[in-house]
Amino acid sequence: MAEPIIRVENVHKRFGSLEVLRGLSLRVDPGEVVCIIGPSGSGKSTLLRCINYLEPIQEGRIYVDGELVGMREVNGRLVPAREADLNRMRAKIGMVFQRFHLFPHMTALQNVMEGPLQVRRMRRDEAEALALRLLRKVGLADKATQYPSRLSGGQQQRVAIARALAMEPRIMLFDEPTSALDPELVGEVLQVMRDLAAEGMTMLVVTHEMGFAREVADRVVFIDGGVILEEGPPAEVFGSPRHPRTREFLSKVL
Ligand code: ADP
Ligand code: MG
Repeated sequence: MAEPIIRVENVHKRFGSLEVLRGLSLRVDPGEVVCIIGPSGSGKSTLLRCINYLEPIQEGRIYVDGELVGMREVNGRLVPAREADLNRMRAKIGMVFQRFHLFPHMTALQNVMEGPLQVRRMRRDEAEALALRLLRKVGLADKATQYPSRLSGGQQQRVAIARALAMEPRIMLFDEPTSALDPELVGEVLQVMRDLAAEGMTMLVVTHEMGFAREVADRVVFIDGGVILEEGPPAEVFGSPRHPRTREFLSKVL
C-alpha cells in the first residue's frame, strides 16, 4: 500500500489538565478526500493544528508524507525537530482557516505570490505567472490587483485557497472554510474545493457542510470527545450511522 500523506497514530493532546485528543488515529491516503465532522469543542481544529505542528502533542506520532512531525530520531531517541525540517514539512501542507488571514496591505496577486517568493525563492516573473494561474483557477483573475478589503468574504477565502496552493502542497487542510461566510457566498468556495478534489488533490476537511461531505468525501470521520467514534463512506455514515452519538449529532445538523 502507498505511504499515506497523513498518518496520525494514537495521539494524545492536552491543554493543562484538559485532554482534547484522547488516542486518536487517522490516515489520509494520496488523492483521498476525508471530511471530519463532529460537535463544537470535540477537537477537530486541534487535530489539524497538531498535524501542522502549530501545537505539540504529548503522546503518539504524526507522520506527514512519511516524515515524523515535530520530532526526529537520533540514535534511537526522539528529540525535537529542527526548525528547517519543520518548515520543510509545513511547506507540504496547505492550510485554509475559517478566517482568511490575508495580508491586508497586499493585493490578491501579491498575497498569492508571497509564499513562492519568500519560501520557494521563485523568480518574480515566475511567481507572478503562477499566482495569476491560481487566481484564474479560483475564478478571480479579474481581482488580482484588488486589496482584501475590497473583496467579499467568499472572494477572500478563494484567494486564501490560491495562496495555499501556491506552495504546491501535498495535502490541503481546511478548517471550516465556509463557517464565517454569509450563506450566499458559501457555494463559490465549496465549488473551488469540489474542483480541487476532482483534480485529485488530497484533502482533509473539517466542515459543517454535510451536503459537501456527502457528495465529495471518500470517507467521513465523526469525532466526538477527542476520538473517532465512527468513520466510513459518506453513504454509510450519513445513511446508516452506527454509533448513537453520530445519530444524535446528525439529527441536529441534517
Ligand atoms: P473544535 O474545532 O472541534 O470545535 P477545538 O479543537 O477548537 O474543537 O477545541 C477542543 C477543546 O480544546 C475545546 O474545549 C477548547 O476550548 C480547547 N482548546 C482549544 N485550544 C486551546 C488552547 N490553546 N488552550 C486551551 N484549551 C484549548
Ligand atoms: Mg474548530
